[in-house]
Amino acid sequence: MKKIVLISIALLSYSVYSQEEKKEYKKDEKQVYICNSMKSERYHYKKDCRAIQKCQDTIVKILLKKARNIYGRTVCGFETHVESSSRSKN
Ligand SMILES: [Zn+2]
Repeated sequence: MKKIVLISIALLSYSVYSQEEKKEYKKDEKQVYICNSMKSERYHYKKDCRAIQKCQDTIVKILLKKARNIYGRTVCGFETHVESSSRSKN
């Protein structure tokens, strides 16, 4: 019995989590591009950025906060102006 409860809790929290994932995209949160390479430390607002054009690996579009929090990326040197203008809104 206890096991069934645990499983249903796990399923419940999973469905809540996936709903939140969807919500993240609905909120139209900023998405950025990263080069899916171990060497890469930056994220980019523009897919046609000259720095990301040098990417030898796959270019992935992800949420800005994921790029920062999960991948530990910092903004591309060519795009710092984009960063500062969006920050002033907060
Ligand atoms: Zn860039």
